[in-house]
Amino acid sequence: MKFTSEVVIGLEIHVQLDTDSKMFCGCPTQGKDKPNSRTCPVCLGHPGSKPVLNKKAVEFALKVALAAKSVIAKELIFSRKSYFYPDMSKNYQISQYEIPLAEGGRIVLGSGKEIKLTRIHMEEDPAALVHPGGMQKSSYVLVDYNRSGNPLVEIVTEPDIESANEAREFMKQLIKVLNYLKVFDVDKCVIKADANVSIKKSGYVRAEIKNVTGFKEIERAIEYEILRQKRDVDNGKKIVQETRAWDSDKGMTFSLRQKEVEEEYGYIIDPDLVKIELTKEWISSIEKEMPELAHEKAGKFVEKHRLKKEDADILSAEKEMAELFEIVAEEINPELAAKWLRRELARVLNYNKKTLKEVKLDEKQLIKLLRLVESKKITDTTAQKLMEMLVEKRFDVEKYVKEEKLLAVSDSSVIEKFCKEAIAENPKAVEDYKSGNEKALNFLAGQVMRKSKGQATPKEVNDILKKLI
Ligand code: ZN
Ligand code: MN
Repeated sequence: MKFTSEVVIGLEIHVQLDTDSKMFCGCPTQGKDKPNSRTCPVCLGHPGSKPVLNKKAVEFALKVALAAKSVIAKELIFSRKSYFYPDMSKNYQISQYEIPLAEGGRIVLGSGKEIKLTRIHMEEDPAALVHPGGMQKSSYVLVDYNRSGNPLVEIVTEPDIESANEAREFMKQLIKVLNYLKVFDVDKCVIKADANVSIKKSGYVRAEIKNVTGFKEIERAIEYEILRQKRDVDNGKKIVQETRAWDSDKGMTFSLRQKEVEEEYGYIIDPDLVKIELTKEWISSIEKEMPELAHEKAGKFVEKHRLKKEDADILSAEKEMAELFEIVAEEINPELAAKWLRRELARVLNYNKKTLKEVKLDEKQLIKLLRLVESKKITDTTAQKLMEMLVEKRFDVEKYVKEEKLLAVSDSSVIEKFCKEAIAENPKAVEDYKSGNEKALNFLAGQVMRKSKGQATPKEVNDILKKLI
């Protein structure tokens, strides 16, 4: 392959699929955290135990492939990837090699750039190795098989990524897709990446950084690795093809081993797992269940509701927010709805450190609230306070507004009365304004707002004050 860019990056991403049970046995994927409590002979690799494939895991992986527009294989074939390591009691990992679940496809970045995919395949997670007191210090290692056999989907990109920032953007878009598909739960499941990084200066000799968790860490690790390679080349050091690890505390990568190729794993087809036909009927029944994805929603928001692209992108980033907007936009002016959801609702959620999924917002009451804003029956200040309450609890917005006398003072004679009072009480400010000090008007407006208990609209107050002075 002929590269031209300064930096070339390809990613291999392991996504833990959010199924209830493991990939080849009935053990739960979540629950008790006591080490080795969620295990059975299959995921412990006992001799004579036989794997049985989890259909849901296959369907989840197929959804990922369909969303990426990959070409799905005709058959599902599993292979044994042989290696010795304490995290793998069978001495092999059940994975896919010769024929992956799907090939090709792409993930589209916010900029519109497409990152092509090489392949998508399924495999089981190995056990977790625990180094008490840290990897460097620990004189022994513990093995926890609770993780062993969790279903993973591995997504391999082409080397289309050209910077650390683009790698992070890719991860963000991928997680967005996974969330929409409901195959991955960001709070419960783990996403890990291996990054292949090379630079033009070295003639594109690549280093692979293994097992980086979380998309911020992936960006950091790649950023460091690019700098390291540039520095080594500048210092006359030869870059070698190798596997490196990321030390998050030290903020640097370090060498693990050199030159190992995929062929060395001695893959063989797993005779315990029969080939499974991925029939057209099965695929199309999954296709029917596919939700509208984020970029499709964003497109619709621009087309149908005439939103700005930026607003549409922000509202569609989270599935729950996108769906809420769709409901609200049926009842309320979409532009107003968009503004209040992406600014005010997002602000209140952010402040409470809650997601929309967690707060179970009462959408009927939200619509009532925004209708009061739309008809200017309450001021923005009042609406902001009501929004804060709505995120915390369920209540009848209209009833509350009536009881607490929160309706905006729309009767301009009342506002005019407040304005006259403010003018009479503050002759100095009036003089200042007359002699050209614009700020003095703000002061007077503030007095009027106080008299109206925040229920007058600032624009109307300003207009009346100007008229009177
Ligand atoms: Zn098990
Ligand atoms: Mn893998």
